[in-house]
Amino acid sequence: MAPLSPPACEHPHVLRSVEISFRVHDPAGAGDRFHNLHWGKTVELSVDCFVCGRRGRTTRLVWGEESGTCSGDSQFPSHPAPVRLSSFDGSHEDGQLVLRAVVDLWSAPFVDRRDGEPSGAMADPPWARVGLGYLCPDRDLQPHEGVSSLQTNLVLPLEVKCGRCDEAIAHMRVGSSIRLRA
Ligand SMILES: [Zn+2]
Ligand SMILES: [Zn+2]
Repeated sequence: MAPLSPPACEHPHVLRSVEISFRVHDPAGAGDRFHNLHWGKTVELSVDCFVCGRRGRTTRLVWGEESGTCSGDSQFPSHPAPVRLSSFDGSHEDGQLVLRAVVDLWSAPFVDRRDGEPSGAMADPPWARVGLGYLCPDRDLQPHEGVSSLQTNLVLPLEVKCGRCDEAIAHMRVGSSIRLRA
């Protein structure tokens, strides 16, 4: 993948990297019905966006796309943002489904045009959200694909249930995090 292009304006930009990880216990190995848990390809996170001049904007990233989408606010429409996923690795480790992702983002200092507070690269407190997809295997019914969303700042422990058969399909106990690389 080509390097993320810097934005075409005159602020002193810095390229920063943010590491995100999620970890859920997948009970499929314990004899429960197999729900084929998998990570969705979209990550949302809170970013201080110098393009629209607001802190803590929800920014949507899709794995494989060259830029992200900032949600803007009531005065500034949703817009492309110089943020993207540079890696996105899902794996199974010891009965757990693990996601490790790295986000590259261009950041520049600014003052929020609404509250006058200075920016950082990430919102304070930062959060990230990812989709956890599943396929319900209940044979009496039509195949059912569902998605549940997980966020780094949820209160733990947390149980994720299938939207159709109501079985517990994942448990989130520890280990989700978002941090700026030094
Ligand atoms: Zn923005
Ligand atoms: Zn189910």
